[in-house]
Amino acid sequence: MALEEIKENCGVMAVWNAEYAAELAYHGLYSLQHRGQEAAGIVSTDGDRFYHRLGLGTLSQVFDSPELLGELHGNAAIGHNRYSTTGTNAQFNIQPLTAMLRDGPVAIGHNGNLINTRKLRRELQNDGAIFQSTTDSEILIHLMARSRKEKLLDRFLEALGRVQGAYSLVMLSRDAIYAVRDPHGWRPLVIGRKGDSYVVASESCALDLLGYQLIRDVRPGELVVLDREGMHSIPVAQVERTHFCIFELIYFSRPDSRTLGDSVDKFRRKMGKELALEHPADADIVISVPDSSNTAALGFSQRSDAKFEMGLIRNHYIGRTFIQPTSAMREMGVKLKFNPVAGVVRDRRVVVVEDSIVRGTTLRKLTDLIRGAGAKEVHVRVSCPPIRFPCYYGMDFPSREELIAHDHSVEQIREIIGVDSLGYLSVEKLLESVPGSGNQGYCTACFTGEYPIPPDGDEETGTKERYS
Ligand code: SF4
Repeated sequence: MALEEIKENCGVMAVWNAEYAAELAYHGLYSLQHRGQEAAGIVSTDGDRFYHRLGLGTLSQVFDSPELLGELHGNAAIGHNRYSTTGTNAQFNIQPLTAMLRDGPVAIGHNGNLINTRKLRRELQNDGAIFQSTTDSEILIHLMARSRKEKLLDRFLEALGRVQGAYSLVMLSRDAIYAVRDPHGWRPLVIGRKGDSYVVASESCALDLLGYQLIRDVRPGELVVLDREGMHSIPVAQVERTHFCIFELIYFSRPDSRTLGDSVDKFRRKMGKELALEHPADADIVISVPDSSNTAALGFSQRSDAKFEMGLIRNHYIGRTFIQPTSAMREMGVKLKFNPVAGVVRDRRVVVVEDSIVRGTTLRKLTDLIRGAGAKEVHVRVSCPPIRFPCYYGMDFPSREELIAHDHSVEQIREIIGVDSLGYLSVEKLLESVPGSGNQGYCTACFTGEYPIPPDGDEETGTKERYS
């Protein structure tokens, strides 16, 4: 589960033409809670007024009484779960962001990270713009407000033409919902339908919950408009090869979600199988670091002689309390979250499958726990390549210096985390585990340093440090 070192980005939802739209958005956001737990919000409209409820914390903390949803009227709504990849986790940064434009209110929910915002923000501020938040998403609102175009759709298209980077976003107006994905398609976004009602969500697991049929992904560089006439598709911009964030398939997206025409579970299992072939281990059992490594561990065991066992139990009730622990709590942190099943690991040669290693500090503690429970040998297999570079497209990796693989070889990392052997899936085998045809490509920049669009700022630090 990446041992709480990587934070998810955000989750977005939009519901069009449904009775109790806000309620559907609320339930859909529950399915997307893994994508962000720092803040949540829903904005709805009855075609005249906007109604909103936003707050810090998880969805259940923000909607802490049943009456609150009843106050969000109308047949259209958008919602957002936030993790702050840009901007601090302050009240004024909670999304959906709302603004009053000259033809009425709009609200925006954004997943991703824009990368040319410093220049744009400066330009807009020099021109008199007063920003209400420190998010990159607000730039789109100012660009729309300043556009001379007549229609909101044209102003939105003009604003999108000025920004670069990762965005899967939904926008609500009084009479339409707009859902758009950047031309590189970094972040997922899917459309579902039930009768003449539509739902757009970061992941298809939200559609399953609401009983909507998955139609397809919003295509990279496509704007989908939902209005009284139904659904329309508008091409915004194309690139030769798209760059879907491969980390969505390794770790972020839920395994029961479908994207790129198949299930995340299938891709992740294939990664585990490739890992077993690339780095076999002479061991008795395979265990996962629950939950996000479960599927890769199953795949690993299917291609090895060692059987899959539940060797670690995760406590799901820790919540966010220990995200910034004191040093004493940090020592307790891993123990609070995971406990080895001594009867499973004792006197066994154990392969621990983990989906990623960021700093490596918590993995060391976890493998110590497994050894302490009596394991004879501990071998770690990682279902992604070494993370050597920061992400500028919406994931909160730490700065380059803090990434253990940035300046350590695999052998050095093995020594630091104190295990008998260590193997990472290679970039080549990772790419063989995922579909790739036509212009379908992947971003692998955190492994290779090859950024599809170079960031506009200080390349030495991660996204959070750059903007917060
Ligand atoms: Fe995803 Fe890594 Fe690319 Fe960031 S740098 S978008 S985490 S693949």
